[in-house]
Amino acid sequence: MIFKDKITINSSKRFEIIDITSKIQSVIDENTINRGIINIFSKHSTSAIIVNENEKGLLLDFERSLNDIIPNDNSYKHDIIDNNADSHLKSFFLGSSESIPINDKKLAIGTWQSVFFIELDGPRNNRTIELTIIGD
Ligand code: ZN
Repeated sequence: MIFKDKITINSSKRFEIIDITSKIQSVIDENTINRGIINIFSKHSTSAIIVNENEKGLLLDFERSLNDIIPNDNSYKHDIIDNNADSHLKSFFLGSSESIPINDKKLAIGTWQSVFFIELDGPRNNRTIELTIIGD
């Protein structure tokens, strides 16, 4: 069986890490699939979906490390037409989707794992995340 849904996110800063774990679990709660896999896909090229630990210091370390690797301003060619090259480049490295197992109607992430939407070029309204659940 396949179930499809989407969630929308509003961001409030240029760079923002938004924990979407409970929103994803709510979608899993609302359908009849008990076990399978969920694909969480951001439909935007200046955002990312990642899984990691929601610890305040770590999230600041992540932001700093990302900016060390890909600074905001580095004479990027894309900045000539659209001043957000660093946002796209960060998205290239982080990726736009995650697939996570579902066991007994629960997102089968580890104790210290959360699912994050990473806003890389906010603030934006109506960032769309498409969810596809395959299972039985
Ligand atoms: Zn762009």
